[in-house]
Amino acid sequence: MSIPKVQTAAIVPELGGDLTIKTDHPVPTIDSLQPGECLVKISHTGVCHTDLHAKMGDWPVKPMVPLIGGHEGVGEIVGIAPGTANSPVKVGDRVGIKWMADSCLDCEFCRKGLEMTCPKVKYSGYTVDGTFSQYVVSFVHHVTPIPEGIDSAEAASLLCAGVTVYKALKQSNTIVGNYVAIPGAGGGLGHLAVQYAVAMGLRVIAIDTGKDKKDLSLSLGAETFIDFKEEKDIVGAIKSSSEGLGPHAAIVASASAGAYKQAIDYLRPGGTLVCVGMPDADIGINAFWCVFKAIRVQGSYVGNRQDAVEALEMGAAGKVKVHYQLRELEDLKQTYEDLEAGKIAGRIVLKVS
Ligand code: NAD
Ligand code: ZN
Repeated sequence: MSIPKVQTAAIVPELGGDLTIKTDHPVPTIDSLQPGECLVKISHTGVCHTDLHAKMGDWPVKPMVPLIGGHEGVGEIVGIAPGTANSPVKVGDRVGIKWMADSCLDCEFCRKGLEMTCPKVKYSGYTVDGTFSQYVVSFVHHVTPIPEGIDSAEAASLLCAGVTVYKALKQSNTIVGNYVAIPGAGGGLGHLAVQYAVAMGLRVIAIDTGKDKKDLSLSLGAETFIDFKEEKDIVGAIKSSSEGLGPHAAIVASASAGAYKQAIDYLRPGGTLVCVGMPDADIGINAFWCVFKAIRVQGSYVGNRQDAVEALEMGAAGKVKVHYQLRELEDLKQTYEDLEAGKIAGRIVLKVS
C-alpha cells in the first residue's frame, strides 16, 4: 500500500480553542518511527466525551497542544518501525487504538494489569496524537486485534466506551440478579453499560433525560428509566425501583457531580459505587453514611489489554451493539457541540478514510 505524504487531521491548536481541519498534515514515514511503533491507517473512530474534556482542557491533568484527539480508532497497520522485536501484530492486521496507547509493561502497575497508571503511560489523543486523523502512530504491544465478525464502525466505540463500562461492571461486586443503577445510561458509555449489565444478568435502572435516551435505554433492556430533569425525588424513585432497598451497585457514567452525590444516598447497604464519569469535582461522599451503609467506592479507569480483548469479544458475539450515527471527520466540531448540549443518544462514529 502506498502511503501519502500528507493527510487530513482534526487539530486542537490551543485548549478551549476552535478545532482546525487540516488537509496537508504530514504523515510520518515508517523510517522515522521508533522501535515498537507502528503506523495505522484509520478507517473509523468514535468520539468520546473525554475528547471534549481534552479540547476544553477542563481536567487538572492537561493534554498536549497542538493536539489530535481521539482514542476509539479502528484501522489497518500499514507499517512497523524498523528494529521492532517480537511484534504480536503485522502489516495488514486490523487493530484498534484505545485510550491507553503505550506503557512500559515492566513496572509494578503494568505487572498488576493497571497499565493505565504506569509512570511511562501514553494516552491516545491526550499525550500522543490520537485517531482524528487518517494515519496515526501507535504501539505494537498495545494495539488491540479486532476479531472477525464485527465491522470497523461497530467496533470503534467498544475500544473506549465499551471496555470502560465492561471493566466498571467487573469491578461492581455484583452477581446475577442484582440491581445496578446507571446514571448517563443514554450516552456513549451508558448505553453500552446497559447492555453489558443485561448480558451479565443484572437488572438495570437507567437514569438520563429525554425521550430518545429513554427509548434507547428501555430498548436495550433497562427495566426502569428515570428522567433526572423531570423526577423530583431521584433517590426515592431509584430505591422504589429496587425493592425499596436501592441497587447493589451504581456505575456513574456521566460527568455530573450531582449524579455521584445521589448514589451514596440510594445505594443498598453493602453496595458499590463505581466512579467512571470524570467531572473535576468533589463528589461529596459523607463519611458517616459511607461507613454506616458499608459502601465501597471504586474508581474504574478504562481497562487493560485483556479487558479490551474481552469487551470486543462480547461485541463480536453480538451480545452488545454500539448504537451509533455515522458522520465524517469534518463533522467533529458539530459533534463536540452536540455532545456538550447532551443531544447524542449513544455514540457518534466518524468515517475517516
Ligand atoms: P456522553 O456525553 O455520551 O454521555 C453522558 C450522559 O450523561 C448523557 O447522556 C447525559 O444526558 C447524561 N447525564 C448528564 N447529567 C446527568 C445526571 N445528573 N444524571 C444522569 N445522567 C446525566 O459521555 P460519555 O462519552 O459516555 O462519557 C461520560 C463520562 O465518562 C465523561 O466524563 C468521560 O470523560 C468519562 N470517561 C471515563 C472513562 C474512565 O476510564 N473512567 C473512560 C471514558 C470516558
Ligand atoms: Zn473515551
